[in-house]
Amino acid sequence: MKPYSQLSKEELTALKEELEKQFEDVKGKGLKLDMSRGKPSKAQLDLSNGMMDILNSQVDLVSSDGVDCRNYGILDGISDARKLLADMSEVPERNILIYGNSSLNVMFDTVARAMTHGFLGSTPWCKLDKVKFLCPVPGYDRHFGITEFFGIEMINVPLLPTGPDMDMVEKLVAEDPAIKGIWCVPKYANPTGISYSDETVRRFAHLKPAAEDFRIFWDNAYSIHHLYDDKRDVILELLNECVKAGNPDMVLKFISTSKVSFPGSGIAALAASEANLEDAKKYMRVQTIGHDKLNQLRHVRFFKDMQGMYAHMRKHADILRPKFEKVWEVLDRELAGLEIGTWTKPVGGYFISFDSMEGCAKAIVAKAKEAGLVLTGAGATYPYGKDPKDSNIRIAPSFPTVEELEVAVEIFVLSVKLVSIDKLLEA
Ligand code: PMP
Repeated sequence: MKPYSQLSKEELTALKEELEKQFEDVKGKGLKLDMSRGKPSKAQLDLSNGMMDILNSQVDLVSSDGVDCRNYGILDGISDARKLLADMSEVPERNILIYGNSSLNVMFDTVARAMTHGFLGSTPWCKLDKVKFLCPVPGYDRHFGITEFFGIEMINVPLLPTGPDMDMVEKLVAEDPAIKGIWCVPKYANPTGISYSDETVRRFAHLKPAAEDFRIFWDNAYSIHHLYDDKRDVILELLNECVKAGNPDMVLKFISTSKVSFPGSGIAALAASEANLEDAKKYMRVQTIGHDKLNQLRHVRFFKDMQGMYAHMRKHADILRPKFEKVWEVLDRELAGLEIGTWTKPVGGYFISFDSMEGCAKAIVAKAKEAGLVLTGAGATYPYGKDPKDSNIRIAPSFPTVEELEVAVEIFVLSVKLVSIDKLLEA
């Protein structure tokens, strides 16, 4: 198909009329579709229903290390859960600390702790004039929400196919002691789906930040979330690389079983050096007498080990894969060659990232909404909700059915075409 930019004004106007008719037709159907959040579908949630049968009044609620999970205690988590989450995080058990039901909560708490108490005896961030974070973009809106909430200044760093622009990261952290952290989703990143290269991970491990309390916030939310059996991204394990580089305390790794079992009712954990975990426990000890051990027990008995988890993730992939492929099929068929947008084709994770022509994303999201399709707000993938090019849109294919997605993506491409034509006619 011919790029839209090569069409004459007359051709564009005629095309617009035809597309508007199609748009009015779908709008008339009064649809309600949602591709806004990376939520697992009902079919995916059903995969873990067996977990609800595991704990009942007839079974022994004592863990294999002899802990009565109904009672108080065991701040770090029961040992079977520590083993499972350590394996999932690819770290030794001494480097894992089990938290509650959400990794976002752990990240929030960690930033809050740095603000009020500092890390390993450093000055609490709230006592400093300025605290800054590097934010690879596009990125996860809820990360940016945490740093914005605490008044931390966010600096955009381009996310390349290999990970964040490391030339820029190295230079900025070395120069500016106010830079205290960086948000990273190293595998199947939200929203682009890219995974960091080995070189990027090694360069992270060898960073020489001006701030002694600089931390890499390594959110491995999609560590085992592959879409295919034969195409998988593998990333280097950062804690071990940091240890080898003599920087064991520089990384904080976050993980959870949210998109493995039940979002909001999973297990979250922090993987870090023993010093960092001791530091975190000083805070945790005051915060709680212990997290939900019955939930830990339920997870351990359901999955047993990583083999069990991998087998379970294959079932998720069987449900998710046709959805991603449906989105790609429609995008390829309808938009390839028009030069009005590009999109990612990750082999895992929960998102497809779409880049429209500059200055079109907000209008596309608004247009799709007119026809009943809710997308993640344009700009959400950037700090402060400000996409400087107004071009990035996050597509979340997991929640709707394949049939709903077919219609949803049709609405999306019609919206992209109409808004792009308007932009070209304006020029
Ligand atoms: N990190 C990333 C990158 C995510 O995409 C999500 C879920 N959308 C989360 C964290 C949330 O994780 P949790 O449910 O463990 O809080």
